Amino acid sequence: MEHSSSNFIRNIVKEDLETRKHDHVITRFPPEPNGYLHIGHAKSIVLNFELADEFKGKTNLRFDDTNPLKEDIEYVNSIKEDVKWLGFDWDGLFFASDYFEEMYNRAVLLIKKGLAYVDDLTAEEIREYRGTLTAPGKESPYRERSAEENLDLFERMRSGEFGDGEKVLRAKIDMSSPNINLRDPILYRIAHATHHNTGDKWCIYPMYAFAHPIEDAIEDVTHSICTLEFEDQRPLYNWVIEQCEMESKPQQIEFGRLNLTNTVMSKRKLKQLVDEEYVDGWDDPRMPTISGLRRRGYTPEAIRAFCREIGVAKTTGTVDTAMLEHFVREDLKLKAPRTMGVVKPLKVVITNYPEGQVEMLDAEINPENPEMGIRQIPFSREIYIEQDDFMENPPKKYFRLFPGNEVRLKHAYFIKCEEVIKDENGNVIELHCTYDPETKSGTGFTGRKVKGTIHWVDAAHAVPAEFRLYEPLILDNENEEEGTTFLDHVNPNSLEILHGFVEPNMKEVNPQDKFQFFRHGYFNVDPKHLTKDHITFNLIVSLKSSFKL
Ligand code: ATP
Ligand code: MG
Repeated sequence: MEHSSSNFIRNIVKEDLETRKHDHVITRFPPEPNGYLHIGHAKSIVLNFELADEFKGKTNLRFDDTNPLKEDIEYVNSIKEDVKWLGFDWDGLFFASDYFEEMYNRAVLLIKKGLAYVDDLTAEEIREYRGTLTAPGKESPYRERSAEENLDLFERMRSGEFGDGEKVLRAKIDMSSPNINLRDPILYRIAHATHHNTGDKWCIYPMYAFAHPIEDAIEDVTHSICTLEFEDQRPLYNWVIEQCEMESKPQQIEFGRLNLTNTVMSKRKLKQLVDEEYVDGWDDPRMPTISGLRRRGYTPEAIRAFCREIGVAKTTGTVDTAMLEHFVREDLKLKAPRTMGVVKPLKVVITNYPEGQVEMLDAEINPENPEMGIRQIPFSREIYIEQDDFMENPPKKYFRLFPGNEVRLKHAYFIKCEEVIKDENGNVIELHCTYDPETKSGTGFTGRKVKGTIHWVDAAHAVPAEFRLYEPLILDNENEEEGTTFLDHVNPNSLEILHGFVEPNMKEVNPQDKFQFFRHGYFNVDPKHLTKDHITFNLIVSLKSSFKL
């Protein structure tokens, strides 16, 4: 696609190969296993894997698991599943925690070189001493400890002698640097916590800024692609590579992260939605997680096409969710069988249709892809139509059913509304209609025209189905007023559950099967709510879009 073929990162890689700065390309996708992947991660996955692939390089999946307090094996497993589902195979599968010993040794090297020290200041004091953008920082009173003392203390930190927060290891760089990241950043902290990979072997853990460059260098990553908020950390990244005397010299390149309208996109916030039960798990179809999108009915093809189209830039922008929807419509257009489903049923009796008679009507499975063939739909005396396709007292220009009006039943006949049946409360419970046998669909009837075509399902053969219709989970993420959080913007109507009917040939659906319901949109068979006698369809996306590429 055009956008991605001209992305600036590709140009850097190309030049690095041409100038022989590198003779190979290795990228990595480095998630922290502290949550499920979301569509923002997909952007990074597509970028890293496709870039390496283009230059016959390799891409590693590496878990940046340096914070045991927040990480879990459940997340590791879900991340692997999601990357595979998106269609990518990693070359190496690594864990930052596999490198803890080497990281420790590199930290010892820094201490020996007089470039790191153990600090006893509290977290709060360290923050105070750090200064601000306009004020320089202040040096810690522990900064001038000797290398011997630091080596001894660091070893005792490792052996568990001190409690959480009692000491940290800091780089000795420059407390007056205009770049706050260089004001003696913390390299190691104490956390007596069980790690999902290393168990209780360690009670000191490296900080991201120290660990990440070492991880990249160990794996001989050539291009370490990350999001823009790490731009200010690049000097520190290079400092670590240089001062830790790493052989390999990876290059950090930043790009703008993906934001979507009406979507929160941080694992921390998504976790809050899960923990506080705003949604039914990480894979709730309203979530922007890969697992949520999958359960909603998005396809890997659609997500990849979207990621290519949004491209890669040096700025962070917000992309309209309608664009993501556009790509799933495009992908399903030719793949998804057409069918009819009634989400809010109203019974219609066709009074002049012979009792006991059933005829099978032919319908194309996908008019846009005739190769998919023909399906057969039963038609008989009683059918369901959509409640919204009838009005007793319609406004002007209402072309669907109302007393005395005639409409076309898709794939069947014209019917005319003769009588409205109500219950004792005055609610419409049934319509009596007549049909005209001359008007059968496909017979070329031209006698008269009707303006409305509605869908229906034969009552005697209908399969009951649940429909889950979705609206954006977040109403508005632009205008978080003071004193409110994103939780105040959660849409109370993001899920509507309806019970209706689908065509009988839908009895044998499989989890994740996708259909286009005539006039409604694309739906996915929910894998979590499928039993022998209960089908749930998730609305993937409605048919109409205002979005233009
Ligand atoms: P979050 O803030 O949502 O937790 P993160 O950046 O902390 O995201 P990581 O697990 O560290 O999540 O991310 C793994 C990779 O995915 C990183 O390289 C990160 O830059 C990238 N990434 C995360 N979010 C986005 C996004 N919205 N757009 C593009 N890339 C992203
Ligand atoms: Mg993170």
